[in-house]
Amino acid sequence: MPNVAVVGAGIVGLTTATLLQDALPATSVTLMADKFLQDTTSDGAAGIYRPGLQFQGLSPEVTRRWLENSYKYYKDILHAGDPEVTGVKKVSGFHFSSQYPDIVVNPFLKAILEEHRPCTQEELDLYGYKYGSFMTTVLTECRRFLPYLTKKFKSRGGSIVERHLTSMEDLAGDFDVVCNCSGFGSRDLCGDLTVTPIRGQVFKVRAPWVKYFYYVDYDTYILPGFDLLTLGGTRQFDSYSSEVCRHDAAAIWERCTQVLPGLKNGEIVRQWVGWRPYRPTVRVERETMTFAGNKTLEVVHNYGHGGYGVMTAPGTSIDAVKLVVDYLASRKSKL
Ligand SMILES: Cc1cc2nc3c(=O)[nH]c(=O)nc-3n(C[C@H](O)[C@H](O)[C@H](O)COP(=O)(O)OP(=O)(O)OC[C@H]3O[C@@H](n4cnc5c(N)ncnc54)[C@H](O)[C@@H]3O)c2cc1C
Repeated sequence: MPNVAVVGAGIVGLTTATLLQDALPATSVTLMADKFLQDTTSDGAAGIYRPGLQFQGLSPEVTRRWLENSYKYYKDILHAGDPEVTGVKKVSGFHFSSQYPDIVVNPFLKAILEEHRPCTQEELDLYGYKYGSFMTTVLTECRRFLPYLTKKFKSRGGSIVERHLTSMEDLAGDFDVVCNCSGFGSRDLCGDLTVTPIRGQVFKVRAPWVKYFYYVDYDTYILPGFDLLTLGGTRQFDSYSSEVCRHDAAAIWERCTQVLPGLKNGEIVRQWVGWRPYRPTVRVERETMTFAGNKTLEVVHNYGHGGYGVMTAPGTSIDAVKLVVDYLASRKSKL
């Protein structure tokens, strides 16, 4: 029986691990990480499916396939499961601007979503903007979705190991193939200096009367999760601070309460900072890593999703799992 490990227990690692179990039911899958659930970057993300144009695979076809497959994956969960349990729900909302007419139309979304239309004049007047779109999409809240996937993984015999790796070499000789889903950790684990943090800061606020999501211009957003709204944000490239910055907080609060003044009556539950694991193109490929003493390790990479990892993890993970399946089949045929 092949022995496969997945490094990383964020959205990318857990999605890959459960898809591996679907594709290779007779395979032993070990999920290994030094952080789980609420300690991952994935936990703080709002999780809305709204890809930006910076999300890139190696070609437009690959990017499109990842986006389509991801949306289909979440739609299937939406139709099959209880959103309160899975953390996957439908959300509708607006993207407004008074300055930038082009940004309110997202070509990726327009091609994929069933509902993506220009705002009516009545909607623009109500909120006080010149340009706007209204759309319906999905939102995946990792505080529910990661436990849901963890339970699924364990119930099918998957094992979970808490371990910090100093190098991928630590695993050489232990597994037939390893999926590297370590997000920002790949900078050290693979020496990939193109992985760069894009620092994001948000508020988590209880204001249950807010039902729609709102994006205004580039970095102002109000996104309704299950219990809390995510209010953001910042996009600070190559910034390694993990502390909440009071100046960022003041700016986010001012911008969001301008959009919805009623938020001032909401309860601020917490603030959070995360590093989006940015890479110019998301890396999904197989590599034979070689180490001193002729040691080797077969690795399938799946990392570098930037600000889009929740929404796109299924698409990239489907391709990563296919690389594992093809590799194991090719090895078998050589025996
Ligand atoms: C403010 C903010 C808002 C966001 N909003 C959205 C959104 O609305 N929609 C969306 O799609 N995305 C959003 N994102 C992006 C999203 O959070 C990331 O793209 C996603 O979480 C990346 O997932 P991951 O599994 O690659 O990484 P992570 O969640 O960081 O998981 C990495 C895993 O690898 C493990 N690991 C790393 N190094 C090692 C090591 N050396 N040894 C052992 N284990 C290791 C960690 O322990 C962890 O388990 C947002 C991000 C931020 C910061």
